[in-house]
Amino acid sequence: MRGHAAPVFLSVFRRLPYLRSLQITTTLADIAAKAEAKDAENQAFRTFLQSQESDSIDELVQELDALITPQIDCTTCGNCCRSLMINVTADEINVLAAHLGRTEADVKKEYVETGSHGGIMIMNTIPCHFLKNDCCTIYEQRFAECREFPGLHNPQFTKRLFATLAHYGRCPIIYNVIEEMKVRLRFNS
Ligand code: SF4
Ligand code: SF4
Repeated sequence: MRGHAAPVFLSVFRRLPYLRSLQITTTLADIAAKAEAKDAENQAFRTFLQSQESDSIDELVQELDALITPQIDCTTCGNCCRSLMINVTADEINVLAAHLGRTEADVKKEYVETGSHGGIMIMNTIPCHFLKNDCCTIYEQRFAECREFPGLHNPQFTKRLFATLAHYGRCPIIYNVIEEMKVRLRFNS
């Protein structure tokens, strides 16, 4: 099996000073190509992370999220808006309807589908209706799920590995955080 790291002492490595500058990759085509090339490596990394102490991994992910996310401009990317299935609430539809100068019923009819499980509402197109030229046209009114993605600040990262890595080839934030994690954890070294 590829990619098993040497024994890892997370608490020590995490505190080592990192003097090299971070190389952030934001070109979507490059990231998509790397995702294909690194599929087996990423599966091995997922297995490796599952064997690690969850709180230590959360600390590292949150540190890297705070470091990397400010260096990536989501307003010029919008790539998650081409693949995410966004849940919306009744309150969010009201806010959007007011913003668009439409009725709530109109907005629901045009943009929302109501599922059979407990009446959950989702946006009815992927890519999202509101993505134009890589940009969200309702950015200030975008939904909570849009604001939350990719959610690397949330605890229990190791419980969300499958879903997070599913977006590795699409989201520059996830890609750069995962690649830096491999370096910090001496994975594959
Ligand atoms: S509402 Fe905006 S941020 Fe949310 S998926 Fe649509 S385009 Fe993207
Ligand atoms: S969350 Fe990721 S995919 Fe979505 S706009 Fe930001 S960098 Fe791009």
